[in-house]
Amino acid sequence: MSHHFTPQQALEALVEGNARFMSEDSDHPHQDRVRRQLMTSGQKPHAVVLACSDSRVPVEIIFDQGIGDLFVIRTAGEITDLSVLASLEFAVVSLGVPLVVVLGHESCGAVGAAQNALTTGRMPPGFQRVLVEKVTPSLLAARALGADTSEDFEKHHVVEIANHIVDRSPGIVEKLRDGECGVVGMRYRLSDGLAEPVVTYGVDADGVEKADPGE
Ligand SMILES: [Zn+2]
Repeated sequence: MSHHFTPQQALEALVEGNARFMSEDSDHPHQDRVRRQLMTSGQKPHAVVLACSDSRVPVEIIFDQGIGDLFVIRTAGEITDLSVLASLEFAVVSLGVPLVVVLGHESCGAVGAAQNALTTGRMPPGFQRVLVEKVTPSLLAARALGADTSEDFEKHHVVEIANHIVDRSPGIVEKLRDGECGVVGMRYRLSDGLAEPVVTYGVDADGVEKADPGE
């Protein structure tokens, strides 16, 4: 099992792993037989990551992590529903994971589909309309703030999802207030591999103003 990370240490582990990945200097840690066998006694991951399902955003690879390091939830457009919130709470409250990461990315198809629906007034068929329904509020909030590029929309969507998690989950907010958990929203750039922080709760990231969990 991993030793216990503080929220800030967990974020630093991911930032350092991402830097290794970007410079093609990955360690590929915790991927051997020893680690596999050690993990049969239980898991103590240091981050729970809600990421987009996009095939170009493989979570363990871009943060240079291995077996037992990350508890990963993926949906197209990193949208939430009750199952996603339940999985997040299981990780934070029951497993004691010290960091929640919301991971969006460059050229996100779900964000693009919502932009398209706003522009043309046409919804995609079948259950795909749920993607548009869940992403559109982020785009409306972004527009109200003057956003007009895909990059702006993708960043605002990550911020909205992070805010939504903090807003909806009493279990996560309690851990946040006790300093036992932090939340960070990031946008991954396909081109150079940077996972850029765009919002944080309870942890510090370069160039990002820390948000307040409120009441
Ligand atoms: Zn995506």
